[in-house]
Amino acid sequence: MNRFDGPKEACGVFGVFGQPDAAKLAYFGLYALQHRGQESAGIVSSTGKAIYEHKGMGLVPEVFDEQTLNGLHGHMAIGHVRYSTTGSSIVKNAQPFVVSFGGTTLAIGHNGNLTNARKLRKKLERKGSIFQTTMDSEIILHLLARSFDAGVEEALVEAVSQIEGAYSCVLMTEDKLMAFRDPNGFRPLCLGMLNGAYIVASETCALDLVDARYVRDVEPGEILVIDKKGLQSIKPFPNRPHTFCIFEHIYFARPDSNIFGKNVYTIRKRLGQKLAQEYPIEADFVMPFPDSGNYAAIGYCHEMGLPLEMGVIRNHYVGRTFIQPAQSMRDFGVKVKLNPVKDILHQKRVIIVEDSIIRGTTSKMRIKTLRKAGAKEIHMVVSCPPHRFPCYYGIDFSTKGELIACQHTVEEVQTYIGLDSLCYLSLQGMLDATDGNENGFCLACFNGKYPIKPEDDVSKLCLEY
Ligand code: SF4
Repeated sequence: MNRFDGPKEACGVFGVFGQPDAAKLAYFGLYALQHRGQESAGIVSSTGKAIYEHKGMGLVPEVFDEQTLNGLHGHMAIGHVRYSTTGSSIVKNAQPFVVSFGGTTLAIGHNGNLTNARKLRKKLERKGSIFQTTMDSEIILHLLARSFDAGVEEALVEAVSQIEGAYSCVLMTEDKLMAFRDPNGFRPLCLGMLNGAYIVASETCALDLVDARYVRDVEPGEILVIDKKGLQSIKPFPNRPHTFCIFEHIYFARPDSNIFGKNVYTIRKRLGQKLAQEYPIEADFVMPFPDSGNYAAIGYCHEMGLPLEMGVIRNHYVGRTFIQPAQSMRDFGVKVKLNPVKDILHQKRVIIVEDSIIRGTTSKMRIKTLRKAGAKEIHMVVSCPPHRFPCYYGIDFSTKGELIACQHTVEEVQTYIGLDSLCYLSLQGMLDATDGNENGFCLACFNGKYPIKPEDDVSKLCLEY
């Protein structure tokens, strides 16, 4: 799926300690992580004594300019790009979220979703906590405040022992940077170094952009505390099986990143090769809808010995919003982003490689434009199994109603989209492509086996009451 039409990423986080102009480094880090959230962006910096912040709605270059960055002083900073998975998309809910209490300022950036947020928030409110936002991330700060007298490290250990679900976070006080990841390790988080400065980021592509050296992943269940004394690692949890989000490999992460110890591009290509082994379809050529199935399409072609063509051309200059066309120009919305190349498609048998089908509406419109352009046969192969179950760990398909494969059989989805055939990669094929097994990954949106049981009412707006 195209990034603007498909499932939305949870968020991206970035942190830096020990670098002059840390906020500028965070700005570039967020630029590299923009694909993980396009609704809001923010940076909080510190000189060791005073905290500075700037946040806003929009893309990173829309939120920051030279002047705002020059006002973010200090050698340490955290940054965040957000797509709302809990709480509305409003500036009040932009992150990093900053609070002051007991003479200390705390800022947090969170990627993931807490599965016991509603219960914890009610408990905290009964004890007198007053919440400023509808984000589950704020709960972590309230829990921290309750045991802060013991010191921020102890307070954080106490806080993480109460929260459940998915969290890869950066946290900052005036003089400490902390990074922590849930014991299941749903979302990625890595550690790098740049000229003696410490960097943490959701993905390694952010380290690459700022020329930092990848050191290692922040381990599931680990808390890193970085201050002028150096780096300290705290592991408050007993070991438990990891359940990395496999959909990061299929769709979310950038192909130039290495996550969960593997390169995303390589995995996507192998997903395409597995697809070809499971479904060797006769056709004239293979094509992706840019930029969704690009790498799996390369893998499918290599395995089949079929040519790869770009049967549709993407307009790179379409913003997130444009004036909706009149009813008489119904297909304008699709065509302005992706325009079919009639000479390539005319009378051809085409295999489209997709990375996912969530609602199916965008695919349906795209197939219609390919038919109009003269394609003779259109087959679609998808580089993961059907999405039949909601995600409660930070991805925006949180109800079954949003998932076409939950409501309909594969044949019905094929008919709805208007395809000659539709094939999904098997669960085993997907695992083989990642060299993984059922125990190392979360597969809940495919098989309904949730590694952490969610509360009964978990939805994007569940804290808005
Ligand atoms: S349910 Fe799916 S999208 Fe959500 S964490 Fe698990 S694998 Fe990832």
